[in-house]
Amino acid sequence: MVTYTLKRVSIAHLPTPLEPLARLSQRLGGPELWVKRDDQTGLATGGNKTRKLEFLLADALANGADTLLTCGAAQSNHARQTAAAAAKLGLKAVLVLRGEAPPGVQGNLLLDLLLGAEIVWAGDRPLPDALESAAAACHRRGDTPYVVPYGGSNPVGASGYVAAMEELLAQCAQQELHFDHIVFASSSGGTQAGLAVGARALGYTGRVLGISVDMPGASLRASVAELATATAVRLGLDLTFAAADIDVNDDYVGGGYAAISELEREAIRTVAQTEGLLLDPVYTGRAFGGLLDLIRCGAFAPDERVLFWHTGGSAGLFGYAEAVLGSAWAR
Ligand SMILES: *Cc1c(COP(=O)(O)O)cnc(C)c1O
Repeated sequence: MVTYTLKRVSIAHLPTPLEPLARLSQRLGGPELWVKRDDQTGLATGGNKTRKLEFLLADALANGADTLLTCGAAQSNHARQTAAAAAKLGLKAVLVLRGEAPPGVQGNLLLDLLLGAEIVWAGDRPLPDALESAAAACHRRGDTPYVVPYGGSNPVGASGYVAAMEELLAQCAQQELHFDHIVFASSSGGTQAGLAVGARALGYTGRVLGISVDMPGASLRASVAELATATAVRLGLDLTFAAADIDVNDDYVGGGYAAISELEREAIRTVAQTEGLLLDPVYTGRAFGGLLDLIRCGAFAPDERVLFWHTGGSAGLFGYAEAVLGSAWAR
């Protein structure tokens, strides 16, 4: 166990289920699709950030923090999971969110408020600047803030996905399963960096393919490689990663972050209506839309086994209801 000695708090429901998508696989005529249910990590509607927060919060507590401070989009799943983790451990949470307060409170923003987080709107300030002044404000009032990085993506947070790869490979061993490909949504890179380290450290031989949600492939590959190397160092592993070691597809970025199009709508409808499984409009809808397109293009052999790693985010469905429905849907 590579991550066994790391400080960790227990806030996630683990292991998350590993389930076949039998009806969808049959309808597509292969490959054999499975899903790893990190939308079911259990913390206030779950998601991938909860795995990272198990390690980040242990670090925050070791540093004597009484306040978690982080940043993200107005509908940030990461901010919502950070707020929930803070509540569960009796810490305060300050969330610096991009832009201005929207007219309606929905989805993740609704949950942030219910979870008792303080929201600071960044307005036209860049998020790092707004985060820095929020940290200064915490210090001025005598609080001890711990800054959780954007997306929880530093070597501490990414360790959560090294542990997740250990968890998956244990499930595979138990069920005598092998996945030829693991496909998931990649953005701030902590998930992909952790999976890459876990794969290399544990000898996983399949492909680990991040579908970029917003970043150009070259910059995402470079930042994931750098983070993977730093994460390996933290774990005492003698592994280094170059950009060429990181597999990213950026064909589905479309109009950019949270620009919801028919790609996401079709994926959300298809998976909901064949499997009763909810994707989200920003991350998993885009990644699964990309996966469906790759399947149509013949990127996988029909007898290959492909794992979609569901990273959560379904609370965002409510925050983007109109865009998710689209004009084609009669109401
Ligand atoms: C944050 C997030 C991702 C991307 O994970 P990174 O580690 O930031 O690359 C994917 N899916 C969902 C639902 C997320 O909230």
